[in-house]
Amino acid sequence: MTHAVSRLRAQRLARCTKPFVARGSRAPRCPRCRVIASYCLCPWRPQVAARSSVCLLMHDVEPLKPSNTGWLIADVLSDTQAFSWSRVEVDPALIALLDDPQFQPYIVFPGEFVEPQRVTLQVAPAPGKRPLFILLDATWNEARKMFRKSPYLDRFPVLSLTSDQLSRYKLRRSKRDDHFCTAEVAALCLELAGDQRAASALDTWLDAFSAHYLGAKYQLPVDVDDELHQRLQAFGPA
Ligand SMILES: [Zn+2]
Repeated sequence: MTHAVSRLRAQRLARCTKPFVARGSRAPRCPRCRVIASYCLCPWRPQVAARSSVCLLMHDVEPLKPSNTGWLIADVLSDTQAFSWSRVEVDPALIALLDDPQFQPYIVFPGEFVEPQRVTLQVAPAPGKRPLFILLDATWNEARKMFRKSPYLDRFPVLSLTSDQLSRYKLRRSKRDDHFCTAEVAALCLELAGDQRAASALDTWLDAFSAHYLGAKYQLPVDVDDELHQRLQAFGPA
């Protein structure tokens, strides 16, 4: 079973001139969920349908990082697409996706860095169109550069998440910090588009991934009968 981000990872690994060494444990990782095999969370992976779709533009080594959360989006939404970002060339498949008439693309980016006329706070595609959320999966500095240096994105509206939406999400999820990872941003976008079930599957999957990832990191047991794993099972088998 592969998805867009795992395929991107394989392509990126093939281009590596020296082996990519992930930080942390040297124990073998499950190739599917990237967690150390004894902490594998694959049996709980939810897969749900959504009206919206996600397109990840990933910065260079992002697909190789075991902690990358764009991967989790592709786990949950099987039609997620992922492309490696480059300043000098653009994948024709990305342009074809952006031109696909079934989609209304939105670039998700903070509005304060964009001309006001491009900014939208709502997801309201024309009738019959599915929202396509373009997420820049990178560090903040990389994402700013990607945004500036991708002229093929200039024609699309910029969906800016408001501080209200962000703080409500933070409160609901008992988040302590102001950093929103790519999977969290995607969950918020899905929610805005009315894809509530997909949003909550993704949030729950992110929680489970964090629990297993940290369990493996600190060699602590993970209770797979807890409320979190039960909620995941409620989304049905993968
Ligand atoms: Zn696994």
